[in-house]
Amino acid sequence: MAESKLKNNSDSLIPITVARGDGIGPEIMDAVLEVLRASGARIAPEFIDIGEQVYLSGNSSGIADASWDSIRRTKIFLKAPITTPFGGGYKSLNVTVRKSLGLFANVRPCRSLHPYVPTKFPELDVVIIRENEEDLYAGIEHQQTVDVVQALKLITRPGSERIIRYAFEYARAYGRKKVTCLVKDNIMKHTDGLFHSVFDEIGKEYPDIIQESQIIDIGSARLAARPEDYDVVVTSNLYGDIVSDIVAEVAGSVGMAGSSNVGKDVAMFEAIHGSAPDIAGKGIANPSGLLNGAIMMLMHIGQTDVAEKIYNAWLKTIEDGIHTGDIYSEDYSKAKVGTRAFAEAVIERFGQKPAHFPALNTENANPGGLMSSDYVRKDLRKGLEGVDVFED
Ligand code: NAD
Repeated sequence: MAESKLKNNSDSLIPITVARGDGIGPEIMDAVLEVLRASGARIAPEFIDIGEQVYLSGNSSGIADASWDSIRRTKIFLKAPITTPFGGGYKSLNVTVRKSLGLFANVRPCRSLHPYVPTKFPELDVVIIRENEEDLYAGIEHQQTVDVVQALKLITRPGSERIIRYAFEYARAYGRKKVTCLVKDNIMKHTDGLFHSVFDEIGKEYPDIIQESQIIDIGSARLAARPEDYDVVVTSNLYGDIVSDIVAEVAGSVGMAGSSNVGKDVAMFEAIHGSAPDIAGKGIANPSGLLNGAIMMLMHIGQTDVAEKIYNAWLKTIEDGIHTGDIYSEDYSKAKVGTRAFAEAVIERFGQKPAHFPALNTENANPGGLMSSDYVRKDLRKGLEGVDVFED
């Protein structure tokens, strides 16, 4: 499970699907592709159109059939943020892609770059692992009567086992010490109760990892107030969506964090932020979030040497005070630069190591391509004597 099926250390080019997105998407994607090209990343991008223009052409899911073909063939998708038009029955492209391709794990590492990026939490280093397909995001909603609407919260044992096992495997692979499970099982005894009991069950297989469970309300409050107490957090879809934004924001800037959406066969990599229409076209957006998503992609496909080169040059750029406007501060910034100049500054620093932050050394590290094993139900349910149950 800890080995990427996509690991490839040869010189052959790996095809990847690329979408430049909406708003600031094309600007930050061009900057990231420039860095990838200059770094010698062994990839062959295939471009597809998704998002606003596709929606407005009458496609309610925002992605055309030919684009699906590319993603299903390459199995690697580097995606810039898109704008979902309001109203008109447009479906969220992110939810559609995650569900259609079975991208069950959403991994969002957030870390402090104190003092270069202002934050109240210098020690913050948290990875949020969020279940990506179930829960209230399964999209099962009904109009019961004129005045009553209903949404179903769907939590399954296979889905819970997969994400929780993924979180423990991730912790082991990346030398993390603790996994915290966030639930609300004092109220939702069946749904969150199942998630919690699966966490306790699977946790027994990982005695080397510290384990704790918290109720989501106090857990979120503590993540916002004392994020340094957390290491890896695993939780269901809606809670994960909320707490990952909280942690990214308190780490410094929403423009900094990347994320991966990982499934059994396909993986998608992106920034955690949206298309930022308020600054689109100005050339001032921070490309770091998407760059960090691209670095996760390189780890996933086994090009750890290139990932290391880019990540260390990026850290050195931040340390040297070359900052975009969102992270600019009088004390630590030396130059306020735009998107393209930031990318050029990273390229200029290839081969350099950060002086303040520990450099990334992937020589002995896991290549990062954590893929799931197929779900196997372990034993017959108890208390069902006389009833036929499947052991599949
Ligand atoms: P947003 O993340 O786009 O912007 C929030 C704030 O952060 C804005 O002030 C913006 O200027 C700033 N910001 C975001 N990224 C930045 C960057 N890289 N550099 C500098 N500043 C940055 O959130 P929003 O305004 O709520 O959403 C805008 C659009 O994005 C909406 O249509 C929404 O549906 C979409 N969206 C898409 C994704 C995605 O494609 N993954 C995710 C979230 C939101």
